[in-house]
Amino acid sequence: MGADAASSLFNPNKNISGMSRSRRRTEVAVIGAGPAGLAAGIQLRRYGINPLVLDRDGGGGLLRNANLVENYPGFPGGIPGPELVRLFLQQAHQAGVEIIQAEVTNLDWGGGEFCIETPASQVLSPRVVIASGTTPRKLSDLGIPVNLSRRIFYEVYAMAGIVGAVIAIVGAGDAAFDYALNLARRNRVILLNRGENVRCLPLLFERASTCPEITYRRSFTVLGLETAPNGSMVVRCLGPGGEERIEVDYLVGALGREPQMNFLSADLLPKAQELEKMGKLYWVGDVRNGLCRQTSIAVGDGVRAAMQIYMCQEQVV
Ligand SMILES: Cc1cc2nc3c(=O)[nH]c(=O)nc-3n(C[C@H](O)[C@H](O)[C@H](O)COP(=O)(O)OP(=O)(O)OC[C@H]3O[C@@H](n4cnc5c(N)ncnc54)[C@H](O)[C@@H]3O)c2cc1C
Repeated sequence: MGADAASSLFNPNKNISGMSRSRRRTEVAVIGAGPAGLAAGIQLRRYGINPLVLDRDGGGGLLRNANLVENYPGFPGGIPGPELVRLFLQQAHQAGVEIIQAEVTNLDWGGGEFCIETPASQVLSPRVVIASGTTPRKLSDLGIPVNLSRRIFYEVYAMAGIVGAVIAIVGAGDAAFDYALNLARRNRVILLNRGENVRCLPLLFERASTCPEITYRRSFTVLGLETAPNGSMVVRCLGPGGEERIEVDYLVGALGREPQMNFLSADLLPKAQELEKMGKLYWVGDVRNGLCRQTSIAVGDGVRAAMQIYMCQEQVV
C-alpha cells in the first residue's frame, strides 16, 4: 500500500487521490435508485423521514432496458420500461426524495452507524437500505480484443441511438429476447443461443419469431471475437454445420445476472445478519430476490422496508 493510500485510512475526509471529501449524515441511506430504492424513498417520505438515495447512474435501474412492461398493475396496455422509470422518478422528486448520483464504493459499520463511501463523499447513517440490484455476467472467457470492447454491451438503454446496425445478442432467456425485440425496432438482430431450448416467456419467443428483423440461431456457441479488415467485428461461432463467422456492428451479452454487493466491506459481511435483526440493515429488490426479479416485487420490498424502519423508530420513541 502506498503512503497516500495508507494515510487515507486514517483521514476519513481524504480519498486515495488526496482530494477532500464532503461528509454528511442522513436518517436513512438507500443504495440504488431503481424501483426498489425509489419505492423505499417515496414511502419513507410519507412518514416524514428524509432518506438520502445514492445511485451510480443517477436513477432508474434495470427497468430502463425493458421493452414493454405488461405485468405492472395500473397499466392495462403495458408501458415501456423507460416511461415507467420516468414516472417513478417524477413521483420520487415530487415526494421530496433526495437522490444523488454517486457510486457507493464501500459500506462499513462501526461505532453504532454505517459509513457509506463514494469517490467524493462520506455519508454516515444509522440505517441502510441496500437496493443495488444485479450485475450482468460478462463474456469474460472470450478474450475480447481491446479495440472491440466499446462495441460490447450488457444492457440496451445506452444503445437507444443506434440505428441501422447489425447486432448479435448472446443468450436465450427473457432479457435476451426482450433486448432483441427492443433493438429490432431500428436494427437487424441475430440471437445466438448455444443450447437447443429457449428459457424465455413463450410470448416473447412468439413475438421474436414473427419479427422480420430478428434471426434466431440455436445450437450456436460463440468461440471468440475478431476484428475484420474493414474494422467491423467478427463473431466466430460453432454451429450445427461447423464453424461460422458472423460480421456484426455490436454484441450484447444477456447471460444472466448476479446480486450487486461488491461494495460491502469484508468486516460488514459477518455482521450483516445481526444488523438485519436489529432493524439497521435492509435488502430490497433484485439484489435479494434470486430468480423472482420483477418490478412489482422490488417495489413491494422497498415499501415494506420503509414501513419496518418507521415501526422501529416508533418503538424507540
Ligand atoms: C430486459 C428486461 C426486461 C424486463 N421486463 C420486466 C417486466 O416486463 N416486468 C417486470 O416486472 N420486470 C421486468 N424486468 C425486471 C426489472 O427491471 C427489475 O426487477 C427491477 O428493475 C429491479 O429493481 P431494483 O430496484 O431491485 O434493481 P435495479 O433496477 O437493478 O436498480 C438497482 C440500482 O442500484 C444502482 N447501484 C448498483 N450498485 C450501486 C453502487 N455501488 N452505488 C450506487 N448505486 C448502485 C444501479 O445504478 C441501479 O440504478 C426486466 C428487466 C430487464 C433487464
